[in-house]
Amino acid sequence: PADDRATAPRISVIGSGYLGATHAAAMAELGFEVVAADPDAAKIAAFQAGVVPFYEPGLDELLARHLDSGRLRFTTDTADAVAAADIHFVCVGTPQRATSHAANLDYVEAAVAEVARSLTHDGVIVGKSTVPVGTAERMRELATALAPAGIDVELVWNPEFLREGKAVGDTLHPDRVVVGGASARAEALLRELYAGPISEGAAFVACDLPTAELVKVSANAFLATKISFINAIAEICTAAGADVRTLADAIGYDPRIGRAFLDAGLGFGGGCLPKDIRALMHRSGELGALQAVGLLQQVDEINMGQRQKVIDMTLQAAGGSVLNRRIGVLGAAFKPLTDDVRDSPALNVAAALHLRGAQVGVFDPAAGETGRRMFPTLSFVDGVAAAAQASDVLLVLTEWDDFSDADPAELAQVVHHRTVIDARNCLDRGAWEAAGWTVIGLGVGDAP
Ligand code: NAD
Repeated sequence: PADDRATAPRISVIGSGYLGATHAAAMAELGFEVVAADPDAAKIAAFQAGVVPFYEPGLDELLARHLDSGRLRFTTDTADAVAAADIHFVCVGTPQRATSHAANLDYVEAAVAEVARSLTHDGVIVGKSTVPVGTAERMRELATALAPAGIDVELVWNPEFLREGKAVGDTLHPDRVVVGGASARAEALLRELYAGPISEGAAFVACDLPTAELVKVSANAFLATKISFINAIAEICTAAGADVRTLADAIGYDPRIGRAFLDAGLGFGGGCLPKDIRALMHRSGELGALQAVGLLQQVDEINMGQRQKVIDMTLQAAGGSVLNRRIGVLGAAFKPLTDDVRDSPALNVAAALHLRGAQVGVFDPAAGETGRRMFPTLSFVDGVAAAAQASDVLLVLTEWDDFSDADPAELAQVVHHRTVIDARNCLDRGAWEAAGWTVIGLGVGDAP
């Protein structure tokens, strides 16, 4: 019974990946007692030893602080975490299925079932994973069916909007907290957990379960659409000799449009946007919402087409074939400030050129290790100059500052040909040209 426990709600976090580990540490920072669970024993051992097993700026400090404060601990035993908590955040993965566009919900189902079966007292299950609309209602029925007799379980959905690379700040200072399907009691609990961010001005949106599920995927679909929109406009800019960067700045001054997510280039990737728009496409099809299907199909197609475009540009820059040509690749992560290489456009392009017989040397400031694990046959080197060494074509595929800050005059000394394809339009073109480089961008008037 509740009166046997301390008054502040205690938290379990089920799944300790990018989302779960950040959420657990942030909840400890907000003053709560947190137990984070994950079946991955190596991951849990790392966290217990104070080591974040992936790259996320600022998370190591937060982890150290709260292993010390005693408010945060890690376990491989979900039942142990559940017994020690009143509110259970489900943060497990929802990757794309191998055989279709649909999301794989096996992990969410398993996690909800484990929590429900392990309840030793009344509790609230809070889904945070990104799921297709309709999932939460099924999870609610599952939890109710599996909870031990006499124990009251409520299930709500509280989607997460954090960005990798900025996850700590985003979790501690969110723009909005969305909670779907909460009773008055559960809503009060969630407001208590997020009291800090709400007092700083975070909007609190209470809604039904399907709306909460759809808010998350619609936000991602909109961001993806902005990127594919500007890439479509970039195609016109290339053909017409216009400059898409100036165009994006100019339209971005309009607050109805906004400048963010209007950078033309290699397109989006990572563990979220691609699989989320595909899962939404799939679910929209199931629900007969065919306009959404058509729109999202175009967004995905334009995005994947950018990768092919950069491969073709490289072939052309290398004289028609990359066989035995040396291609320097700057970037493996799907974006800067992360080591995440899930569905990374950069690695995708590097691997495609490798398959066509190029000698590819890849450098990434954070994702060398994760990149090597995903593509063991690619050669990963240490440093920008090492990647550029003797290259016939140099590619900038992730917009790390390390690359835009590199000295074009120094690199000019080590390459075989001074040709760079700036697939993120992030280089200072004038400076590179002054150092003797031919710079090929996307949507900046260069021939495709
Ligand atoms: P991740 O792969 O980094 O982490 C998922 C973790 O869940 C893994 O450590 C895995 O071992 C663990 N897990 C699997 N089954 C489990 C179970 N039954 N019990 C406990 N743990 C289990 O994935 P992630 O990037 O953290 O994403 C998790 C969810 O959050 C996804 O739905 C994703 O779409 C969503 N999300 C991610 C981000 C992001 O930027 N990464 C942002 C918002 C939302």
